[in-house]
Amino acid sequence: MDQKVYDLLDSYREEMTEMLKRWVRIPSVRADAQEGAPFGPDTLRMLQQAGSDAESLGFPVRYFDGYACDITLGTAEEKIAVLGHLDVVPVGDGWTRPPFDAVQEGNRVYGRGTEDDKGPCIAALFAMRAIREAGISLSRRSIRMILGCSEETEWQDMEYYTAHTEMPELGFSPDASFPVINTEKGLLQMLLSFADPASGLRVLELATGDRPNVIPGTCSARFAGGQDLADRIHAWSQRTGLPVSAVVEEGSIRVTADGIPGHAAMPEGRRNAIGMMLSLMKDLGAEGALQTLASAVGMEYDGRSLGIACRDEVSGPLTCNIGILRKDGDCWTATLDCRCPITSDLDALLHTAAEHLPGIDMQVITKKEAHHVPAEGELVSELLAAYEEETGLKGEAVAIGGGTYAKVLKQGVAFGALFPDQEELAHQADEYYDLDSMVKAAKIFANALIRLAQ
Ligand SMILES: [Zn+2]
Repeated sequence: MDQKVYDLLDSYREEMTEMLKRWVRIPSVRADAQEGAPFGPDTLRMLQQAGSDAESLGFPVRYFDGYACDITLGTAEEKIAVLGHLDVVPVGDGWTRPPFDAVQEGNRVYGRGTEDDKGPCIAALFAMRAIREAGISLSRRSIRMILGCSEETEWQDMEYYTAHTEMPELGFSPDASFPVINTEKGLLQMLLSFADPASGLRVLELATGDRPNVIPGTCSARFAGGQDLADRIHAWSQRTGLPVSAVVEEGSIRVTADGIPGHAAMPEGRRNAIGMMLSLMKDLGAEGALQTLASAVGMEYDGRSLGIACRDEVSGPLTCNIGILRKDGDCWTATLDCRCPITSDLDALLHTAAEHLPGIDMQVITKKEAHHVPAEGELVSELLAAYEEETGLKGEAVAIGGGTYAKVLKQGVAFGALFPDQEELAHQADEYYDLDSMVKAAKIFANALIRLAQ
């Protein structure tokens, strides 16, 4: 790649950092729709900030009614899309830094959305700027960055965008990790509901989780009972080695399970606090649908007892996460989030799961087929070449359970911006973005975009 591009990107470091802080300070968590703000006022404010920042860098920006915006470089008819998102998941538990202050410590900027996905979007935006400032002409393709506002929920942003303008066929989403992700598992999200069991353990209160795609880090509940039950819970915790505490409070027991939070698509090494609570409740004598749910899901994340465990060579195993569990009056609701191998039949999985949950009503919230782009084509090979040239590492195309916007494109893959030696912090406490990595990612993006567009 042209030395000028490297020099430019190094010179942008401060500006990129300031922009990242500006964006992270807008808590763009989805909220109820308001007029002109389909995902709430903060998300709209974030979209306007991103658009005006791109305009002040000299790019033309088009807005799509609070759903998305796009930023274009070049005039060629055919386009490469760069799909990112400006919304973030709710804060969750366990933060030791303020999640929306963009605190900088050395090379790190902390905050919800730093890595997922504001930092990588900024890296790609400055890659476009460096290409333009270096005077590189894009004769084959132009570059169109599309920034959406509901990636963490139901992707209505991309639906709206696609309905109102032409979506490019080819591109990448910098919303996962390097090298290249050319396989994304299918996604099933289900809403479960059932009546409070009339007998067995009495659960007075339980309301944990905000999103199906988050592994909850703590789960608190209030059970009817006294010291005897609290003692049984302590004994259970000792026997299982699972950190659950129980405190007797005014005639009932406050129970807290401490799990390890994370992203639903990557349950390995995490521990679902709702799953812990379900297992505990079952052992304490929960009955009816509560017992059914505990037996069919509990702390498992492979779908075994739901009858849906499966895997294939390209995508690896199915994963299953229970992200929400709540009791409202006499009615319970829960969510399941399953990431399904590309060879699996989503309808058959739904059918099997429902069969394993007798007495529980199951509604499908999200059903997205798996996505796979052959590793041999131009897109994957050029992206891998850019990655290898910039890092000196061997690149390969891999599969993930996370669904990125890459699925929206006929030929789309996820590309960056997490490096293989970095810890995945999306959706977790103390999410941060490393500023060296941001500049390095921008160089890889610039290299890749030049290869595909020049
Ligand atoms: Zn993301």
